[in-house]
Amino acid sequence: MSIVRVALPLPLPQVFDYLAPDATAADVGRCVTVPFGRGERNGLILALGAAADIEPARLKTVRHIQREVPPLPADWLELVDFVARYYHAPIGEVVALALPPGLRRADGVSGEDEDPLLQIAAAGREALCGARRASKALALLQGLAAAGEGPWRRSVVRALEGGEAVGELLRRGWIRVAERVADRVAPRHAAGAQPEPTPEQTQALEAILGAGPGFKPWLVHGVTGSGKTEVYLRLAAHLLAQGRQVLMLVPEIALTPQLERRVAQRFAAAHVVSLHSALADGARSRGFVQALAGEADIVLGTRLAVFAPLPRLGLILVDEEHDASYKQQEGVRYSARDLAVWRARQRGVPVVLGSATPSLETWYHARSERYALQTLNQRALAATLPAVRCIDTRRLRLDEGLSPALQAALGERLARGEQSLVFLNRRGYAPVLSCPSCGWVSRCPHCSANLVVHLADRRLRCHHCGCDGPIPSACPSCGDQDIRPFGRGTQRVEARLAELFPQARVLRVDRDAARTRRQWESVLATIAEGGADILVGTQMMAKGHDFPNLTLVGVIGADAALHAADFRAPERLFQQLMQVGGRAGRGALAGTVLIQTEYPAHPLYQQLARHDFDAFARMALQERRSAGFPPFTHQAMLRADAPALDAAVDFLRHARRLAEECAPEGLRLYDPVPMRLTRLARRERAQLLIEADQRGVLQGFLAGWVALLYRQRTARELRWQLDVDPLEV
Ligand code: ADP
Ligand code: ZN
Ligand code: ZN
Repeated sequence: MSIVRVALPLPLPQVFDYLAPDATAADVGRCVTVPFGRGERNGLILALGAAADIEPARLKTVRHIQREVPPLPADWLELVDFVARYYHAPIGEVVALALPPGLRRADGVSGEDEDPLLQIAAAGREALCGARRASKALALLQGLAAAGEGPWRRSVVRALEGGEAVGELLRRGWIRVAERVADRVAPRHAAGAQPEPTPEQTQALEAILGAGPGFKPWLVHGVTGSGKTEVYLRLAAHLLAQGRQVLMLVPEIALTPQLERRVAQRFAAAHVVSLHSALADGARSRGFVQALAGEADIVLGTRLAVFAPLPRLGLILVDEEHDASYKQQEGVRYSARDLAVWRARQRGVPVVLGSATPSLETWYHARSERYALQTLNQRALAATLPAVRCIDTRRLRLDEGLSPALQAALGERLARGEQSLVFLNRRGYAPVLSCPSCGWVSRCPHCSANLVVHLADRRLRCHHCGCDGPIPSACPSCGDQDIRPFGRGTQRVEARLAELFPQARVLRVDRDAARTRRQWESVLATIAEGGADILVGTQMMAKGHDFPNLTLVGVIGADAALHAADFRAPERLFQQLMQVGGRAGRGALAGTVLIQTEYPAHPLYQQLARHDFDAFARMALQERRSAGFPPFTHQAMLRADAPALDAAVDFLRHARRLAEECAPEGLRLYDPVPMRLTRLARRERAQLLIEADQRGVLQGFLAGWVALLYRQRTARELRWQLDVDPLEV
């Protein structure tokens, strides 16, 4: 009689033993359905158990072992085990996070029918020759023909420009489903057009490929537009040609449809699988299983794709490695960037982290030669980087935040038919509504935050908990009708720009204007087609897009970040401005970045103006070293939340006392404090910071301490979580 040890998605740090009469070692790594409480649960078999923790007579029997899908391999089980240990999270929760929900439920995941290989049919070749009326379908067919002989995955064709017409092509008989998968000849991986690499790209490629297989972490530090993506694609092509799989992580797929298309086009004959949380269950499970079965050649995905099982893995790429979205901010707070490096080491393959503005952690590794560094200083297409200048606003009268110099520059671009971007990282019309006679301000009833004025749809909205309501016509406190929006966000700037430049087409680009992927793509298309003259955008605009006609970026309201309490604020500001500035002058036209500031001499702006990331990083690391911040120290944050602040703080005090009893030499325990945004969605939040100079010291301590914490009886309404390597402190 076999016993299986099962990870179940529960906030409990243990595994559960069940009887499984017919289980063998081949079932380790398979999903199971087991009875639990009065119902049943789906979990994963982690191991066969020799002696159960409870007597066999009391063990329940598994209901079903899912054997239609290959089991997850040992290296994958090792990965989730590592995540559970490093982030001190229950293994069942890690498994639940890493496995697509559909797979755990063990429903249909077969893929061939839904994503068949397509080929141009005889009728299609005729259509290409005949003089027909131009149509979407014909354009797509021509595009496919130009890309090579195929066959192509339907999903790949879908990802192409005009790919919606794929159904039409099938109906007209212009393309057909390729006979069998086995017919897929050795894929011609490099189907799309490839530019000749620049000398810097060549050097990076030769260095990385020349190092051969085996674990090696690389940082590709390349200025915006230097062709980092081109380097990734060439590396990927090389590994694919050797029959290996490539994992490519990107921060947010929804924001980078261009990249997805570029990958699909370049590797038209390869099997590219996208993995991100916006996918429907079925699609995510299918992609995961295709990766697991070794069918997927490239897995392109967001942070959760780091959990894709890849039996033929040959290379991991992490684009924009500095991006905060690689760190999960809830549940199991893992860093996909860090896990990517761990996985590469585990699997003995190279990992390439790329960025124009590397995180200081990664930069420090590169400086101390733990990571090998490749630098791309030249832009691939544009002749030069944009000119960055500060506009000193101390003695200026601003018109809704816009200086005369910025207005003049906008006017010039307009006259030349070029595009501009006004960058302001705050959406809405104004950050708060207030009453001048009694001092009332629009506070969120559930959070320690203000309600933001959204004039576009006449609502007051909390950007933290999402609650919203109508804009009152008079002060709710004193009845004064003269209540006013205070401060400014993108909507307000948009409105003013439309007044100042009535002839211009002003387009706002923020999460309100582009809520869905479809809306976002249409915004990008509008910009690309020249359907907008002046853009007003938030950090959404900072992510890797090419806007060849965009020549001016005006930055307003950036100073606040210089004085923020968070020690990472300057790093984020520098990254953001460098990224958003990098949107300017990416084509043949030269770009300019104008930064409005009251601190024109601030070193951060000066370094930005010189495009001197090294100097910035040196200065910032120096500050971190003397203040004892990461990467010179290692941190963990215990957070607690409850309806009342006292309850949260009391729990943390208790946790601190427990910690004092088992704290090793070199561990620093701070006092529990309320979080900066203390109240969020009706819960009061507090945190306790723990630090050590050695990662090992911190980790050793956490293991024992967290086990103790799990044993504490806490009030029902109290919740706590541990965040290892927190990004927000
Ligand atoms: P990054 O990822 O560093 O921002 P990209 O790889 O997106 O840069 O390249 C920026 C632009 O330059 C893209 O339009 C790309 O097609 C083009 N490009 C990149 N490498 C080359 C090259 N070797 N020759 C010509 N164009 C290139
Ligand atoms: Zn009032
Ligand atoms: Zn709120």
